[in-house]
Amino acid sequence: MKAIRRFTVRTVLPEPIAALAPLATNLRWSWHLPTRELFASLNPELWDRSRHDPVALLGAISAEEFDALAKDEDVVARIQSAADDLERYLTEPRWYQTLTQGAPERIAYFSPEFGITEVLPQYSGGLGILAGDHLKSASDLGVPLIGVGLLYQAGYFKQSLSRDAWQQETYPVLDPDNLPLTLLREEDGTAVSVRLPLPNGRQLLAQVWRADVGRVPLLLLDSNVPGNDDAARGITDRLYGGGGDHRLQQELLLGMGGVKALRSYARITGTSAPEVFHTNEGHAGFLGIERIQELMAGKGLSWDEALAAGRASTVFTTHTPVPAGIDRFELTQIEHFFRAGLAPGVPVENVLDLGRESYEGGDPGKFNMAVMGLRLAQRANGVAKLHGVVSREMFAGLWPGFEKSEVPIASVTNGVHVPTWVDPSIGTLARDAFGPEAESLGRWDLAYNVPDETIWGLRRELRGKLVADVRRRLRASWKKRGAADAELGWTDGVLDPDVLTIGFARRVPTYKRLTLMLRDPARLKKILLDPKHPVQLVIAGKSHPADDAGKKMIQDLVHFTDDPEVRHRIVFLPNYDIAMARTLFPGCDVWLNNPLRPLEACGTSGMKAAINGSLNLSVLDGWWDEMYDGENGWAIPTANNGASSEERDDIEAAALYELIENRVAPRFYGSVVSEDAGAAGPSQAGDGELPTAWISMIKHTLAHLGPAVSAERMVKDYVNQLYTPAAVAGRTAVEDGYAVAKDLAAYTARVRSAWSAVTVEHVDSSGVSESPQIGDTLHVSAYLSLGGLEPEEVQVAAAFGKAGNDDDIQNPRSVDLAPSEDLGNGRWLFRGPIPVDRSGAFGYTVRVFPKHEALANQAELGLVVNA
Ligand SMILES: *Cc1c(COP(=O)(O)O)cnc(C)c1O
Repeated sequence: MKAIRRFTVRTVLPEPIAALAPLATNLRWSWHLPTRELFASLNPELWDRSRHDPVALLGAISAEEFDALAKDEDVVARIQSAADDLERYLTEPRWYQTLTQGAPERIAYFSPEFGITEVLPQYSGGLGILAGDHLKSASDLGVPLIGVGLLYQAGYFKQSLSRDAWQQETYPVLDPDNLPLTLLREEDGTAVSVRLPLPNGRQLLAQVWRADVGRVPLLLLDSNVPGNDDAARGITDRLYGGGGDHRLQQELLLGMGGVKALRSYARITGTSAPEVFHTNEGHAGFLGIERIQELMAGKGLSWDEALAAGRASTVFTTHTPVPAGIDRFELTQIEHFFRAGLAPGVPVENVLDLGRESYEGGDPGKFNMAVMGLRLAQRANGVAKLHGVVSREMFAGLWPGFEKSEVPIASVTNGVHVPTWVDPSIGTLARDAFGPEAESLGRWDLAYNVPDETIWGLRRELRGKLVADVRRRLRASWKKRGAADAELGWTDGVLDPDVLTIGFARRVPTYKRLTLMLRDPARLKKILLDPKHPVQLVIAGKSHPADDAGKKMIQDLVHFTDDPEVRHRIVFLPNYDIAMARTLFPGCDVWLNNPLRPLEACGTSGMKAAINGSLNLSVLDGWWDEMYDGENGWAIPTANNGASSEERDDIEAAALYELIENRVAPRFYGSVVSEDAGAAGPSQAGDGELPTAWISMIKHTLAHLGPAVSAERMVKDYVNQLYTPAAVAGRTAVEDGYAVAKDLAAYTARVRSAWSAVTVEHVDSSGVSESPQIGDTLHVSAYLSLGGLEPEEVQVAAAFGKAGNDDDIQNPRSVDLAPSEDLGNGRWLFRGPIPVDRSGAFGYTVRVFPKHEALANQAELGLVVNA
């Protein structure tokens, strides 16, 4: 029977236990174990059945049971104490409140996905989980962040397998009323409504849901409202749904609608407006156009002035070096939507120019969201050091005339939210051994003081939990694949809690090479079944629904795991998500990662493994490239650039097998006593001797990687390196009626039109004899034509250093030359000294850059004259 109408009845809690409601809706429970334990204790059976979701639990407990709980003094006291603790957490001063200089009053963090808990499935992979971890750590640090995203009716898909191991996708529809969300309402109780005009007189309306991530509010726009036509209602149907116009409208809603939602939020709550806007990946980039529109309409600024003001307070983070990960639209598509009046008063041509691939190698018919992101933000970064290098190369076309190393894209290495990802038993161990402060002080070095037996015992316990979880999931998966219980007895014996366990879980784009381990199936089989040093593998991952190559990889892998000879040692688990991940990372001894270098921007799963004492076995890509130190895991060597992709896979797979056979497995089983001792006589698995060399690698990993990979470190880096400078620049830009922004805009226009006439006519130097010596000083004179610019409007620099064979100056240093003589007709002599401070080949050159106090770096305008 189908209901003709449905609505959700909200639980009414008796007064003495009413505090359960805020405890359930504030997502802090997702990383605060005591709150979760409180909910579990209310009714352990219902807690399991409601899949550890506090809102679902409260919906499932009967009114009679609530009454009984409300009469239980112990329960009431525990709830009150948890509520008091939450209140303290939400209000007390934290790290950010100790900062004094310039830090922004509020930062808006935009992302198309947020992975906070499996209860709110609004993420597909790394970007979403990272955004969730960013919000959580911001909350822990007291950083006044506010998140902005979309609420997808179905989130990302759930994965299962067909009998023949082909990925199946389902999209269970979520009911926002049953999620930890509250609708943002006007004071009169009506829902806040955000509106965007669409072509052909249509419109896109959205309501705004608010999730509370500790201290950080997260606004999620939802187009599933009655005022929309069916097509508009479906805009937020699923994460990264469809392509083309569907995706574009999601992004228009996220960026432009997101700014409107922030404005409503600030108005209703009386809180201050964000001083900094942080765009994650290109998807949310239209927020910059909305802000330009506000400034043009509201403050009477020109396009150029509004652009200068908006850029000052915008940070753009690129999260992938894979071209397919970057959204590109047809310019005509963008034009079609903006002509409908999305940004009244903003010239559409200018909008198009922001995303146009107008550089060498670009496609001038395309609108590139990452390019727009870079043009709309004065500060940009990649997500690991190596990714910074790769991004500077990738986007170098936007800064012609500059060295790749000068491209203004910095890097902040990602991190993971430790309380979310560290297994509770590790926290318990730390507290028991070192007291309650050990955790909050981040004393990872105390790992060295833990006895070896304790560490080894804990590792076995975590491995054992994983084995139990794998058996349960594998049986469920086989039942979905059509097997009967009677055929599945073998699943109870899958994996062994005493065998070296290697994990591999990630999305399945080609570059992550899910099936590299299958390169030589016979050799893999031998590794798994090795009588002395057996290995077991736990694998998981979702393929993009439209990616048949990815699905084929999953199928190949699952076919391998179906073989009765090896199926007790290698499993594929469907539906990788946060819940699975939390058992998987701690339970693995080794975390495997073998992407095609350098396509992994950062990668965070290995970080989550590391904080649980798992060792990384990875290609030197992303974060591992900068954090591998020889003692915290293993580096899989990468083939030379010249190799074909087939050769490359062969070489790297062989290196991987070799590492597992000769280094990883012997050490795990205690056959290697220390790095130098080599094989010190065979020893059997489980013969009671501790693998001390392995355990010392665990301790080293915890002590050194723990602080480095934590999201607190990452968020502090963002605050210090990006948010605060952006806030300072943003404030400066708006002072005195936008005086600085206006001045910069006028300067930019002038310098752009003059630039083609700026030339270095002649350079000479004096002060050095025929045979220069260290300690000499070279006096450089540069004769310039400034094309009508004043001498203080340009920076003239001499770059110098060791000259390579091709006269390339290596690691150049730079000194500014000063204007010393007006030669008339716009010509100037600039002079300055360079120290000759190294022997061997020495070279210098002269370069001219635009100069304005509001520019964040030399390369910002993409203008340079090289002598
Ligand atoms: C951490 C995590 C990811 C991202 O992992 P990568 O190493 O960046 O591939 C994806 N999905 C889940 C469920 C995760 O926990």
